[in-house]
Amino acid sequence: MLIVMEKDATASEIQTVVDVIESKSCVARPIPGGDRVSIGILHNKGSLDPSSFLGLAGVKDAIPVSRPYKLVCREFQKEDTLITVGDVTIGNGHFVIMAGPCAVESEKQALTIAEHVQRAGAQIFRGGAFKPRSSPYSFQGLGEAGLKILSKVRAVTGMPVVTEVMDEESFDLVEAYADIIQIGTRNMQNFSLLRRSGRSRKPIFLKRGLAATVEEWLMAAEYILEQGNSQVILCERGVRTFVHHSRNTLDLSAVPVVHKESHLPIFIDPSHAAGRRDQVIPLSRAAAAVGAHGLMVEVHHRPEEALSDGAQSLYPDQFAQLCRQANTIYETINHNGSL
Ligand code: PEP
Ligand code: MN
Repeated sequence: MLIVMEKDATASEIQTVVDVIESKSCVARPIPGGDRVSIGILHNKGSLDPSSFLGLAGVKDAIPVSRPYKLVCREFQKEDTLITVGDVTIGNGHFVIMAGPCAVESEKQALTIAEHVQRAGAQIFRGGAFKPRSSPYSFQGLGEAGLKILSKVRAVTGMPVVTEVMDEESFDLVEAYADIIQIGTRNMQNFSLLRRSGRSRKPIFLKRGLAATVEEWLMAAEYILEQGNSQVILCERGVRTFVHHSRNTLDLSAVPVVHKESHLPIFIDPSHAAGRRDQVIPLSRAAAAVGAHGLMVEVHHRPEEALSDGAQSLYPDQFAQLCRQANTIYETINHNGSL
């Protein structure tokens, strides 16, 4: 249930509502809004009676929340969540493009690619320092040395950086260097990692599990919000199906579903969805048209030499084309007021 306070509710009226919630062995989560405070009720065992709150001073409304992902759902928060990272705001009607190599391979490689993608229009740099690979014999990433390179990229270009955390063990380290912390598809239901992310003050980029329903994905996000971190960006990156013409199947229909169900921003990763370069630009155009808030794209200046995911990495000139086309589509639709 969500308790909506009157605009002029006093601090002591808010505290009384919190006390009543706690007296019922529930957790109260005050959410300061633009012009009024709302208080979420978490951990209630059964359904609550709205009338036990409606009579309290300063209470405007008591709204039952029907979804299991309470903090994540639209019923709980009508306005879109905006996330600010450096100079970049995510979720406010601008299409944000994150781009970079699959893995950070060297300082020269990262800086070269960063320069290309920034010139083309990327606002956030991506690059893995800890890589989740199917084979233990494949390149596992540079680890902390890779994180240091990402710091260098940020210092040189001014772009915030997003990089993946793979386990709780390395969380503190990744958190110290990253501007946005990525949780990969294979970890979407690593609940202890989700809880640790919820205690971070950095935004979390939560990829959809490759066999997860939208509901399971939103519940994964709920783990993060439940621990106090409301800065979550969802990312659809393709789900596993029976097809062989792409690495995964990009589920674009997840975008309108997430818009309806949640206030969190949603991105599309066409690179891991497709697994092959020739599909990345068309899928990016579709992502802009369907209303995603942004893209995460893999780019390499020498993809044939890339230590991971070269086949799906765009050449810099292709990436520039992608930015032009996706931004044009997004702006056209937005300016027509259709989004
Ligand atoms: C990545 O973005 O580097 C990555 C490994 O993606 P995913 O978790 O979607 O496979
Ligand atoms: Mn990759």
